This record gives sequence, C-alpha cells and structure tokens, in this order.
Amino acid sequence: MGAGKQFSREPVDVPQIMTDNREIKTKLPVPESLEVLADLEKHEPVSMQGQPPIVWSKAEGFNVYDPWGNKWIDWSCGVLITSAGHGRSEIRDAVKAVIDKPLLATYCFPNPERSRLVAKLTEVAPDNIDRAFILTTGSEGCECAIKLARTRGLNISPDKKVFITFEGDFHGRTLASQLAGGLPGLKNWCSDMGETFVQVPWPGSFRLKDKSFSMFEKTLEEKGIKAEDVCGVMCETYQGGEASFAPVEYMQDLAAWCKKNNALLIYDEVQAGFGRTGKFWGFEHYGTHVDLICCGKGISSSLPIAAVLGSTEVMNQYAPGSMTSTHAAAPLGCAAAFANIEVILNEQLADKAAARGEILINGLNRLKDKYPDNIGAVNGKGMVAAICMVKPGTEESDADSAHSIVEKCFQKGLLMFAPVGPGGGSVKISPPLIMPEDVISESLGILEEAMAETLDA
Ligand code: PMP
Repeated sequence: MGAGKQFSREPVDVPQIMTDNREIKTKLPVPESLEVLADLEKHEPVSMQGQPPIVWSKAEGFNVYDPWGNKWIDWSCGVLITSAGHGRSEIRDAVKAVIDKPLLATYCFPNPERSRLVAKLTEVAPDNIDRAFILTTGSEGCECAIKLARTRGLNISPDKKVFITFEGDFHGRTLASQLAGGLPGLKNWCSDMGETFVQVPWPGSFRLKDKSFSMFEKTLEEKGIKAEDVCGVMCETYQGGEASFAPVEYMQDLAAWCKKNNALLIYDEVQAGFGRTGKFWGFEHYGTHVDLICCGKGISSSLPIAAVLGSTEVMNQYAPGSMTSTHAAAPLGCAAAFANIEVILNEQLADKAAARGEILINGLNRLKDKYPDNIGAVNGKGMVAAICMVKPGTEESDADSAHSIVEKCFQKGLLMFAPVGPGGGSVKISPPLIMPEDVISESLGILEEAMAETLDA
C-alpha cells in the first residue's frame, strides 16, 4: 500500500476555478477544515490519515463537495466504491424504503432484501456459481474464501492446505482475527497458517520479465510445494496497487493447472467486479472458469456490504448456524446492492466503462509518451488505471512525484486518493463509471498540468 506520506496542512492560495464540473473558491486545505482534521487526528489512530485534506459533505454523480463551496471531479470513488456514481437516487430510494418500514437489522433471520440480492448475485455469476453468502467487508469475503478452500482441501487430504496468492496482492487486513480467537474448534481451518500461505510472482507487474506460467510452477518447486497439496489459488483479478492485469495465457494455464490439481481458483473481485473493468466481472477478460468470487466495494456503490459466491459443493461445507456474521445480509446493505446492480445492468455501465476507459487509457498513454523516463507503466482496463511513477530511467517507484501529482490535482479540483502500490509510486485512477467523455477529457487535462508542474519544474 501507500508509503504513508502526508499532504500539507498549510492552507495555500490556489488559482480559483469555476467550470461546469469543478469549483475551487478557497485556499486549500480550507482553513476552516483544519479544525475537523485536527479533531480526527486527536481521536483516531494515525493509520486513518494520509488522504488529501478535504472534508466531504456531499457527493453526487461524479462530484464531491466540501462544506465551503468547493466541488471536485472525483477520480477516486472513495476507494473504488461508488461505481454507479455517488448518491444515486435509485440506491437512496431503495435504502429509504427499508428505513421507513422500518427494518434496520435482522441478524440471520431472513429478510426479503437479502433474498432478492442472493438470487440476483447468482443470476449474474457464471452458471457453476449457485450460492451467495453476504458479508460486510471485502476482507471478510476473502477470509471466507480462504476458509472454504482450506476446509475443502483438508477434507480431501490432510496435506491439501497450501493456499497460493501473488506477491503484491492485497486481500484485506483481518486474517488474524480467527487465529487470535480462543475457541480451538473454530480454527482447524487455519492451523499452520504461516507455512501454508505461499506467494508467487505476479505476472502483471511491469517489473517481472518472465511472464510465462512456467514461473508459477518453478516458484512452487523452489519453495518445495507439491501441486497436489494446493487447496486454492487466489488473485486480485487485477492487482490493485498498480492496476495490473495478468497475461491471458498465464491465467488460462493457471486455470487448467487448478483443475488438474483439484485446487479452487478464486478471483478477488473486490475492486474488479460490477463493471469497473469494462466487463461485469473482471475475470471475464481472462476467459477462465472460477470457483469462488469475492465481492465488495462496487457491489453497492454505497453501504458496507460484501459477498462470496460459489458452487453448492464449496459453499455448503458448513452446517446451519456455523458460517454466519452478525451483520451478514443486513437489509439496508442488501437493498442498496440490489438497486446498484440493477442500475449497472440497466444502464449497461460495464459497456460504457469499456468505451470511456479507452479515452482514459489512451490519454494516459499519451502522457507516458511525453514522460517515458518518469512513467514505468500505464496499466488498466475500463474505468480503472494506474500511472506507475519511477525515478528517471529506473524501475524504482517515485513516491514524491506521485504524491505531488495527486496533491496538485487536488488543488485544481480533481480528486484522487493518495498514491498506492509498491513504494507508493502509483497514481491510481478510478472514476465513477457514469463519468461522461468530456469530463474524462477535462480531467486528463488537469492531470497533464499537474504532471508538467511536477516533472518539468
Ligand atoms: N481485496 C481487494 C482487492 C481490495 O482492494 C480490498 C480493499 N482495498 C480488500 C480486499 C479488502 O476490502 P475491505 O477494505 O472492504 O475489507
């Protein structure tokens, strides 16, 4: 993740901006906002800091507003949450209807919103996927997928518990929760965790030269892992840090390898799902099968909700009452997710993301042509992209440039979250899928200015 650099808290005079899509009419950060920021800094862990210093008061469509009359074009979606656009009326109405019933919580007691959502999720998933388990966060979804793969593996053989992921993958921050628990019976699935979690090189990285699937097999061999002991392979469909996709051939070979060795192939679609990459599911770019899909973020474009999708064989391993979570399938999140999926399908937002993404990525590639020594790679598909800033002529991340570009964009009315990726050098771009072409072009112009001010200075 990011390198933890802070954005300046010193209000500076910035050029005032007034277009149809942006308004900057104060110093930035806004002097009055410093009190809110200071309160947060006093009462929260420092880990919650690090984003550009803006206080959100309203977000609608592709815009984010603060309480002092400033308005940004949003290239963040929070962090890839609001794919269908901020504050969609369809989602607000669906949530309001549940609030007004009123029905705010049900635990695992059934509610109609949950029933509609799980049916919809299995309908939009590939045919072999017929069950959906609703959770609250992406990390929980990934944990659950790991648990299901390991449980299944251990039922096949006591050694079939090696879980493979990729160097640079991010799947969440909560795995330790069950390990730390004091109920041994609940953690059979996570014994020997350290030794059986193995990472292999990510073939999407521009730094990795050998992108052939033989690299996967070679790495397992070097690490002394037997293929038959692998219970599952999970990847971020594209690796979030640098928005990098694996070569299609690699993923097809990997899928065949998983089938041959009876290991589950798991796509972490927390970032990639629900139209973001120009297809409904990101893994559709690879044309492989999938055994488990982890969903989050863009599933609702709003409230906290996540899901794991899989086949009956895999999903039904735990008896009634033994794979649950207090807020799993809470009605508000389910209503929001259902309305969001309908919007994405009805407005064909995946197709729109594919078309508009071409404008975005072509624009970024033009910047790479302009600054070949400073940009190691431009990655992405659909409405997600990353510019990998490097120290001139090297492959070493340039966190300072990335940070400066994001800060200057912020001052010009284009909002991105803080740089991510290895060494914090990746400027990540993830606009709402509804962003019109002219706004993408306006944003690219701002980015170019910020880049010129950073690199030509
Ligand atoms: N997987 C991926 C690919 C993610 O990007 C994230 C969050 N950045 C997670 C899992 C974890 O999701 P959450 O923060 O909702 O727990």
